[in-house]
Amino acid sequence: MLFESISFVMTNTCSAACDMCCFSCSPQKKDQLDKELVKDYILQASKLGMTKRTAFTGGEAIIYFDQLKECMEYANSLGIPSTLVTNCFWAKNYDEGYKKLKELKQAGLVGMTYSVDKFHQQYVPYESVKNAIMIANSLGIQITINLMDLKDGKSVYDSLEALRPYIYHNEIMMHPCFPAGEARNHIKEDQYIYECSADSALCPFDKSITVLYDGTMMICCSQFSHEIDAVKVGKFGETSLEQAIKNFNDNDIIYVLLSNGFGWYTDLARSLGKEIKEKYVICCHLCHQLFTDKDFLEKAMPYIKKEAQRLRLKHFMGIG
Ligand code: SF4
Ligand code: SF4
Repeated sequence: MLFESISFVMTNTCSAACDMCCFSCSPQKKDQLDKELVKDYILQASKLGMTKRTAFTGGEAIIYFDQLKECMEYANSLGIPSTLVTNCFWAKNYDEGYKKLKELKQAGLVGMTYSVDKFHQQYVPYESVKNAIMIANSLGIQITINLMDLKDGKSVYDSLEALRPYIYHNEIMMHPCFPAGEARNHIKEDQYIYECSADSALCPFDKSITVLYDGTMMICCSQFSHEIDAVKVGKFGETSLEQAIKNFNDNDIIYVLLSNGFGWYTDLARSLGKEIKEKYVICCHLCHQLFTDKDFLEKAMPYIKKEAQRLRLKHFMGIG
């Protein structure tokens, strides 16, 4: 499996402390990835051909502006463009926000995702988001506005209403709120939207290795990933990117998941007496249920190993 990019969850420091944050980020949290190590891993990524992009997120990576800029500049020097996820707090003042973003653009920033919903807007006024949209548009940086939905639909409706007409001509993504992290403590069960069919779900693997702010290396960066041991492939500073990819290739659980989809696992889980709902909020929600269930994993492992062996053999023979 060829990986295309590397992502860094640079810090759990944030300007906000949202009630649905999967990492429980806040202004008080201070974990941060070492920028020299980040640069070293960007170099490794470059040597391995993982040059599609370097993604930066948090927390708010932009709080540690100089470090972020230096990492982006380094990626840029190797021909790798950068992307950033942010809540737009830095654009409260248009001119200051413009200056910051212009510097990041010069450092190689090509795309941003703006997180907008009723939880973020307890900390970030819509004016900042509007400024951030105008700034990115004027600098030619592509943006995606990420809206999080709850069953009552109010969060998305209010955000769209508040941001008209600034959102026009920009990409908008809507996704349901995930029952992960702080959301489990603050959002009522009847507000989650269950629209992902368990039996036909597929892992949205995006060929990117993620490094979490605490140094955990993972094959994905969903809101659930950091609680799922099966997706972990190493430790930042200790595991080379090459070794992390080897660990991924040797991982029978993930190999079977990517080859067969969740249907194979839901059949197995039911046959082992496990309750599987018809629908989940997202496939990563189902992934979390299956692969954090130690009893299921213990009973399922012999079947997973056998299936992985069968699939690898098929692949080796050129018939899979
Ligand atoms: S802005 Fe994002 S990273 Fe910060 S607390 Fe909110 S959800 Fe977490
Ligand atoms: S389904 Fe599992 S392995 Fe796939 S992206 Fe989600 S958490 Fe990661």
